[in-house]
Amino acid sequence: MSPVSRPIASDSAAILQQEIQTLAGRTEVRTALDWFRKREPEFTRWQLEGAQIGAPPFGENARADWLAGKLAELGLRDVRKDGIGNVVAIKPGSNIPPVSISAHIDTVFPAGTALNIRQQGRKLFGAGISDNAAGVTALLALAAALVELRIPHRAPLLFLGNVGEEGEGDLRGMRHVFYDSEWKDAISASVVIDGAGTDTIICEALGSRRFEVVVRGPGGHSWSDFGVPNPIVALARAIYLFSQTRIATSPKTTFNIGVIGGGTSVNSIPEAASMRVDVRSSSGEEIERLEFELRRAVDQAVTEEIRSGERLNPARQPAEMDSEIRIIGSRPAGELEPNARILQIARAVDALLGNSAQAQRASTDANIPISMGREAIALGAGGRGGGAHTLQEWFDPIGRELGLQRILLIVLALAGGISSGAQK
Ligand SMILES: [Zn+2]
Repeated sequence: MSPVSRPIASDSAAILQQEIQTLAGRTEVRTALDWFRKREPEFTRWQLEGAQIGAPPFGENARADWLAGKLAELGLRDVRKDGIGNVVAIKPGSNIPPVSISAHIDTVFPAGTALNIRQQGRKLFGAGISDNAAGVTALLALAAALVELRIPHRAPLLFLGNVGEEGEGDLRGMRHVFYDSEWKDAISASVVIDGAGTDTIICEALGSRRFEVVVRGPGGHSWSDFGVPNPIVALARAIYLFSQTRIATSPKTTFNIGVIGGGTSVNSIPEAASMRVDVRSSSGEEIERLEFELRRAVDQAVTEEIRSGERLNPARQPAEMDSEIRIIGSRPAGELEPNARILQIARAVDALLGNSAQAQRASTDANIPISMGREAIALGAGGRGGGAHTLQEWFDPIGRELGLQRILLIVLALAGGISSGAQK
């Protein structure tokens, strides 16, 4: 940051802090904290109910129907499912661009998994109970508070229960909203609610790209066809070459060869071999560079393996070998400007609530808007949770009201504060 911009930034931060203090001082908003605390038994019920409905990747329909029913019951208008299966509801406001509040409804657990959702004492247990039944519950709690406490807001609020955040879903729900929906250009800011807690503000989108590499050759007998290029050896050469690639430490960038396969028997030259490669960075350029290096390593490895076969058995007919690199997942990277308004608002709200939170980098639904240069953050739904993506997942609603109040204040501030007059 330059010395010139610093006082400007702190001035605007002071003004923002003042605005948020005024907002938080409004009677409807002040009573919300207490209201959230009192309604906890109902939130717990919603969370258990929603989590019990299986929502594997590409199988979110039943949970989406349940959520749509709940949002309509709470009094939201225009509740519907969009073309890809996201639940969408609008809470109207003034004629200005909307703010979106979303929670992904899918889980990592395949269809048929025994989710084993249950309550023991205060704590909730079961697969997906925190990631993201907690987020979905926060979405409902927020809608309920706005309606019941008649909290006015200037910008319209777009409530989204989106599909396809986890794994091979590859953020398809959020992609649809920002690439194809009627709101794609209008949304002014996005708050993504994912998992439990109040201790982070996710403002950097960790990007990833995943590849399947397949190398194919003629195959043959280990003795009589010796010298035919071997796809497993070619892949091993490619892994060696790729692993020599220079890797940036800042921004942190990583790669992994996670799965390798191929071949049929010990005395056969394989016809094919494959591997899966994962590359991650918050820099889109680094991801591009690593993809380029991976492609180069595979090309070079195939050439070397063909040459090596010719050297080992010069009497043989030259053999062909080819390779294919397919992208099997892609999450775009990006980061907010350090002075982004949404970040300033989140920090000011945390200061007001006495909540300490770290700015963090992660891979969430917020990747899509952040990578497009739009304002977005991901927040926890309050309470505490653990064991995400395991059957031992748990959620403790203690202190959930702080998380909900935090989200409410951030959303209201993003929505341009509270509308004056008798706005409904
Ligand atoms: Zn999640």
